[in-house]
Amino acid sequence: MNFQPLLDEIDEEIRPLLGQGGTVASYIPALARVPAQQFGIALRTCQGGEASAGDAATPFSIQSISKLFTLTLAMRHLGDMLWERIGREPSGNPFNSLVQLESEHGKPRNPFINAGAIAVADRLLSDGDAKAELLALMASLCGEPIGFDAEVAASEAATGYRNYALANFMKSFGKLDNAVEAVLDLYFHQCALRMSCVQLARAAGFLCRDGRHPRGGEADITTERHTRRINALMLTCGTYDAAGDVAFSIGLPCKSGVGGGIVAVVPDQLTLCVWSPALDATGNSLLGRKALELFVAKTGLSVF
Ligand code: GLU
Repeated sequence: MNFQPLLDEIDEEIRPLLGQGGTVASYIPALARVPAQQFGIALRTCQGGEASAGDAATPFSIQSISKLFTLTLAMRHLGDMLWERIGREPSGNPFNSLVQLESEHGKPRNPFINAGAIAVADRLLSDGDAKAELLALMASLCGEPIGFDAEVAASEAATGYRNYALANFMKSFGKLDNAVEAVLDLYFHQCALRMSCVQLARAAGFLCRDGRHPRGGEADITTERHTRRINALMLTCGTYDAAGDVAFSIGLPCKSGVGGGIVAVVPDQLTLCVWSPALDATGNSLLGRKALELFVAKTGLSVF
C-alpha cells in the first residue's frame, strides 16, 4: 500500500493546528529553545516501504524514546534476570516521580519511567561500553551514523536534580551497581540522541518484525518473545500517565519523549514516528497524539 497520500493528508490537517495549544518542555533548558511550530510524520512498512510528510527529516531530541533501545539491549544481555531489578506495571505516577521507590525498596515500577530507565542504564554499564554499544545499535538500525546532542546532554546534567535524586535513592537501596555519576552520564546521553521521524520509523522497525533487523539480511535485533514484551510495555507504560487513554484512543503500542516525538508500532505491518514539540499536560506531544488518532481512524489499524 502507498501511504504517502495519507501522510500528506494528515500533515495538511495538523498544520493549521500548530501553535494552538501545548507547551514545549522547559525543564531542560536546551529543549525550551526548540520552535514549537513544527510537525513531522514518517512510516516504514515491514517490507521496507517508506513515506513521510512535513518536518519528517528534521532531527530532534528523542528523550524517552531512547528507553526503547536501551531496554532492547538490556533484555538481550540479561534476559529475564532484568526483571529482578525492574517491574512491569504502569506507575500511575509522573515519569519522574520518587514516591513509589520508597515503598518498593528502590525497584522501579517499569523500564519506561525515569527510575526504570536509570536502572536499565546501570545494568548496561555493568556489561561494557554502553554508550558505544547504543550508538552502534542505532547506526545499524538506521543505516547511518546517529549522534548525541552534547548541548542537550550537558543541559540535562546541569539541571537533572530529580534524576540525581532518583539514582541516589536507588543506590541507597543497593539497586544500582555502578557509580551514580556514571549511570546518569549514560542516561543523559541516551536521552540526548538526535534523530528525525524518518530515522526513528526505521530504527523501530524491528518491533513490527518480531525482532528481525529492519532491513533484513543482518543479525536479528532481538527475539520474537522479547519483541512482544517490549510492545506490551509500550502499550501499558509507554506514554507516561496517559497510557490508558492512548490505548483507548489510538490502540497501538507507543513510546513518547518530552522532545515531542512518539513512536508507534503496528505489529507485523509498520512502524510510525510523529513529532511536534508542544506537549500536553501529560508530557506527550499534543499534535503527535492527534496525528496518530487520525492515522488509526483513516486506516482502521489497531492491535485490538
Ligand atoms: N531526559 C528526560 C528526563 O529525564 C526524559 C524525559 C522524557 O522524555 O520522558 O527528565
